[in-house]
Amino acid sequence: MFMWATNTNTIIRLIRIGITNCYLVDKKDVKILIDTGQKSKSEKLKSSLYRLLGDCNLDYVILTHAHYDHAENALMLKKLYSPKILIHKNEADFLENGFMKLPKGTNVTANFISASGNKFASWIGKYDAVTADIKVTENYSLENTEGIEIVHTPGHTSGSISIIVDNEIALVGDTLFGIFPKSVLPPFADDKIELYKSWNKLMETSCKIFLPAHGKTIKREVLKKKIK
Ligand SMILES: [Zn+2]
Ligand SMILES: [Zn+2]
Repeated sequence: MFMWATNTNTIIRLIRIGITNCYLVDKKDVKILIDTGQKSKSEKLKSSLYRLLGDCNLDYVILTHAHYDHAENALMLKKLYSPKILIHKNEADFLENGFMKLPKGTNVTANFISASGNKFASWIGKYDAVTADIKVTENYSLENTEGIEIVHTPGHTSGSISIIVDNEIALVGDTLFGIFPKSVLPPFADDKIELYKSWNKLMETSCKIFLPAHGKTIKREVLKKKIK
Protein backbone atom coordinates (compact mmCIF):
# COMPACT_ATOMS: atom_id res chain seq x y z
CA MET A 1 0.00 0.00 0.00
CA PHE A 2 1.22 3.49 -0.81
CA MET A 3 1.83 5.54 2.31
CA TRP A 4 3.40 8.90 3.14
CA ALA A 5 4.37 10.51 6.46
CA THR A 6 5.11 14.13 7.34
CA ASN A 7 7.81 15.26 9.79
CA THR A 8 5.21 15.51 12.56
CA ASN A 9 4.05 11.99 11.82
CA THR A 10 0.79 12.54 10.03
CA ILE A 11 0.20 9.41 7.98
CA ILE A 12 -1.46 9.49 4.56
CA ARG A 13 -2.57 6.22 2.98
CA LEU A 14 -3.76 5.71 -0.58
CA ILE A 15 -7.00 3.79 -1.07
CA ARG A 16 -7.70 3.38 -4.79
CA ILE A 17 -11.42 3.14 -5.41
CA GLY A 18 -12.13 2.56 -9.11
CA ILE A 19 -10.49 5.33 -11.12
CA THR A 20 -10.07 7.56 -8.08
CA ASN A 21 -7.28 7.85 -5.53
CA CYS A 22 -8.84 8.40 -2.12
CA TYR A 23 -6.53 9.25 0.78
CA LEU A 24 -6.97 8.46 4.46
CA VAL A 25 -5.23 11.08 6.58
CA ASP A 26 -4.33 9.94 10.06
CA LYS A 27 -3.64 13.00 12.20
CA LYS A 28 -3.12 11.69 15.74
CA ASP A 29 -6.68 10.91 16.85
CA VAL A 30 -8.41 12.53 13.90
CA LYS A 31 -9.19 10.43 10.80
CA ILE A 32 -10.00 12.20 7.57
CA LEU A 33 -10.93 10.66 4.22
CA ILE A 34 -10.25 12.76 1.12
CA ASP A 35 -12.71 11.85 -1.68
CA THR A 36 -14.78 8.68 -1.79
CA GLY A 37 -14.48 7.07 -5.25
CA GLN A 38 -17.20 5.28 -7.19
CA LYS A 39 -20.24 3.45 -5.89
CA SER A 40 -19.50 0.33 -7.96
CA LYS A 41 -16.37 -0.09 -5.80
CA SER A 42 -17.99 0.79 -2.45
CA GLU A 43 -17.30 -2.67 -0.95
CA LYS A 44 -13.57 -2.13 -1.39
CA LEU A 45 -13.82 1.27 0.31
CA LYS A 46 -15.80 -0.23 3.20
CA SER A 47 -13.35 -3.07 3.77
CA SER A 48 -10.27 -0.79 3.46
CA LEU A 49 -11.68 1.63 6.02
CA TYR A 50 -12.72 -1.20 8.33
CA ARG A 51 -9.16 -2.50 8.29
CA LEU A 52 -7.37 0.86 8.52
CA LEU A 53 -9.58 2.57 11.09
CA GLY A 54 -9.61 -0.29 13.58
CA ASP A 55 -11.52 0.92 16.63
CA CYS A 56 -11.50 4.55 15.48
CA ASN A 57 -14.31 6.43 13.83
CA LEU A 58 -14.06 8.40 10.59
CA ASP A 59 -14.26 12.06 11.68
CA TYR A 60 -14.29 13.91 8.37
CA VAL A 61 -14.94 13.28 4.70
CA ILE A 62 -13.44 16.09 2.64
CA LEU A 63 -14.55 16.25 -0.99
CA THR A 64 -12.13 18.05 -3.30
CA HIS A 65 -15.15 18.76 -5.54
CA ALA A 66 -18.60 17.34 -6.34
CA HIS A 67 -17.92 15.14 -9.42
CA TYR A 68 -19.41 11.66 -9.14
CA ASP A 69 -16.03 9.89 -9.09
CA HIS A 70 -15.19 11.79 -5.89
CA ALA A 71 -18.56 12.06 -4.15
CA GLU A 72 -20.44 8.88 -5.06
CA ASN A 73 -19.81 7.07 -1.74
CA ALA A 74 -20.31 10.10 0.53
CA LEU A 75 -23.88 9.17 1.52
CA MET A 76 -22.90 5.58 2.31
CA LEU A 77 -20.07 6.81 4.57
CA LYS A 78 -22.38 9.33 6.24
CA LYS A 79 -24.71 6.48 7.19
CA LEU A 80 -21.87 4.25 8.33
CA TYR A 81 -19.66 6.64 10.35
CA SER A 82 -21.54 9.99 10.60
CA PRO A 83 -18.44 11.97 9.62
CA LYS A 84 -18.61 15.70 9.02
CA ILE A 85 -18.72 16.20 5.26
CA LEU A 86 -16.74 19.21 4.05
CA ILE A 87 -16.91 20.78 0.59
CA HIS A 88 -16.49 24.23 -0.96
CA LYS A 89 -19.69 26.27 -0.95
CA ASN A 90 -19.69 26.49 -4.78
CA GLU A 91 -20.06 22.69 -4.94
CA ALA A 92 -22.50 22.18 -2.06
CA ASP A 93 -25.65 22.46 -4.20
CA PHE A 94 -24.35 19.83 -6.64
CA LEU A 95 -23.71 17.48 -3.73
CA GLU A 96 -27.19 18.15 -2.33
CA ASN A 97 -28.75 17.48 -5.74
CA GLY A 98 -26.51 14.50 -6.46
CA PHE A 99 -25.53 15.72 -9.90
CA MET A 100 -22.69 17.64 -11.51
CA LYS A 101 -22.06 17.76 -15.23
CA LEU A 102 -18.66 17.26 -16.87
CA PRO A 103 -16.46 20.35 -17.20
CA LYS A 104 -15.20 21.59 -20.56
CA GLY A 105 -12.36 19.67 -22.18
CA THR A 106 -8.84 21.13 -22.14
CA ASN A 107 -8.14 19.63 -25.59
CA VAL A 108 -10.22 18.86 -28.69
CA THR A 109 -10.87 15.19 -27.87
CA ALA A 110 -11.80 15.85 -24.23
CA ASN A 111 -14.03 18.73 -25.32
CA PHE A 112 -15.90 16.37 -27.64
CA ILE A 113 -16.26 13.76 -24.85
CA SER A 114 -17.47 16.40 -22.41
CA ALA A 115 -20.02 17.92 -24.81
CA SER A 116 -21.44 14.56 -25.96
CA GLY A 117 -21.39 13.14 -22.41
CA ASN A 118 -23.39 16.09 -21.09
CA LYS A 119 -25.83 15.92 -24.01
CA PHE A 120 -26.42 12.18 -24.39
CA ALA A 121 -25.31 10.55 -21.14
CA SER A 122 -26.16 12.97 -18.34
CA TRP A 123 -26.75 9.96 -16.03
CA ILE A 124 -22.94 9.75 -15.78
CA GLY A 125 -22.80 12.66 -13.37
CA LYS A 126 -25.64 11.45 -11.10
CA TYR A 127 -25.15 9.95 -7.63
CA ASP A 128 -26.72 9.61 -4.15
CA ALA A 129 -27.32 13.14 -2.84
CA VAL A 130 -26.01 14.13 0.57
CA THR A 131 -25.89 17.37 2.56
CA ALA A 132 -22.55 18.91 3.49
CA ASP A 133 -21.90 19.78 7.15
CA ILE A 134 -19.14 22.28 6.49
CA LYS A 135 -19.14 24.59 3.46
CA VAL A 136 -15.87 26.49 3.07
CA THR A 137 -15.16 29.61 1.04
CA GLU A 138 -11.53 30.66 0.70
CA ASN A 139 -8.93 29.22 3.05
CA TYR A 140 -10.06 27.18 6.04
CA SER A 141 -8.28 25.43 8.90
CA LEU A 142 -9.86 22.27 10.24
CA GLU A 143 -11.14 22.77 13.80
CA ASN A 144 -9.12 21.15 16.61
CA THR A 145 -6.78 19.69 14.02
CA GLU A 146 -3.52 21.57 13.65
CA GLY A 147 -1.80 21.30 10.30
CA ILE A 148 -4.76 20.58 8.01
CA GLU A 149 -5.37 23.60 5.78
CA ILE A 150 -8.00 23.77 3.04
CA VAL A 151 -7.06 25.98 0.10
CA HIS A 152 -9.47 27.04 -2.66
CA THR A 153 -7.91 25.89 -5.95
CA PRO A 154 -10.57 26.57 -8.64
CA GLY A 155 -10.16 25.78 -12.32
CA HIS A 156 -11.13 22.14 -12.80
CA THR A 157 -14.41 23.25 -11.18
CA SER A 158 -15.19 26.58 -9.51
CA GLY A 159 -15.25 25.06 -6.03
CA SER A 160 -12.28 22.69 -6.24
CA ILE A 161 -10.19 22.61 -3.08
CA SER A 162 -6.80 21.20 -2.08
CA ILE A 163 -5.86 19.92 1.35
CA ILE A 164 -2.44 20.95 2.65
CA VAL A 165 -1.07 18.54 5.26
CA ASP A 166 1.56 19.99 7.62
CA ASN A 167 2.64 22.31 4.79
CA GLU A 168 4.54 19.32 3.34
CA ILE A 169 2.10 17.28 1.26
CA ALA A 170 -0.88 18.52 -0.76
CA LEU A 171 -3.92 16.44 -1.76
CA VAL A 172 -5.05 18.23 -4.88
CA GLY A 173 -8.05 16.35 -6.30
CA ASP A 174 -8.31 17.04 -10.06
CA THR A 175 -6.35 20.33 -9.93
CA LEU A 176 -3.36 18.33 -11.15
CA PHE A 177 -3.42 15.07 -13.11
CA GLY A 178 -0.83 12.33 -12.58
CA ILE A 179 -1.92 10.10 -15.48
CA PHE A 180 0.01 11.51 -18.44
CA PRO A 181 3.80 11.23 -18.66
CA LYS A 182 4.37 14.74 -20.03
CA SER A 183 1.54 16.82 -18.65
CA VAL A 184 -0.13 17.57 -15.32
CA LEU A 185 -3.08 19.34 -16.98
CA PRO A 186 -6.42 17.62 -16.26
CA PRO A 187 -8.26 16.68 -19.51
CA PHE A 188 -11.31 18.57 -18.21
CA ALA A 189 -11.44 22.04 -16.66
CA ASP A 190 -14.10 24.73 -16.50
CA ASP A 191 -11.56 27.57 -16.39
CA LYS A 192 -7.96 27.04 -17.52
CA ILE A 193 -6.76 30.50 -16.40
CA GLU A 194 -8.12 29.90 -12.88
CA LEU A 195 -6.48 26.48 -12.94
CA TYR A 196 -3.03 27.95 -13.69
CA LYS A 197 -3.53 30.50 -10.88
CA SER A 198 -4.34 27.59 -8.57
CA TRP A 199 -1.11 25.83 -9.57
CA ASN A 200 0.76 28.98 -8.49
CA LYS A 201 -1.19 28.98 -5.24
CA LEU A 202 0.00 25.41 -4.62
CA MET A 203 3.59 26.51 -5.31
CA GLU A 204 3.21 29.22 -2.61
CA THR A 205 2.97 26.44 -0.03
CA SER A 206 6.12 24.57 1.04
CA CYS A 207 4.70 21.25 -0.21
CA LYS A 208 7.25 18.96 -1.79
CA ILE A 209 4.76 16.51 -3.24
CA PHE A 210 1.28 16.77 -4.68
CA LEU A 211 -1.00 13.75 -4.56
CA PRO A 212 -3.66 13.84 -7.31
CA ALA A 213 -6.98 11.99 -7.41
CA HIS A 214 -5.97 10.31 -10.65
CA GLY A 215 -2.52 8.91 -11.37
CA LYS A 216 0.84 9.19 -9.71
CA THR A 217 2.51 11.60 -7.27
CA ILE A 218 3.70 14.89 -8.76
CA LYS A 219 6.92 16.36 -7.38
CA ARG A 220 7.35 20.06 -6.67
CA GLU A 221 10.12 20.40 -9.28
CA VAL A 222 7.83 18.93 -11.94
CA LEU A 223 5.03 21.39 -11.19
CA LYS A 224 7.52 24.27 -11.15
CA LYS A 225 8.71 23.30 -14.65
CA LYS A 226 5.13 22.98 -15.95
CA ILE A 227 4.23 26.44 -14.67
CA LYS A 228 7.20 27.93 -16.56
ZN1 LIG B 1 -13.38 16.13 -11.42
ZN1 LIG C 1 -11.88 13.06 -10.89
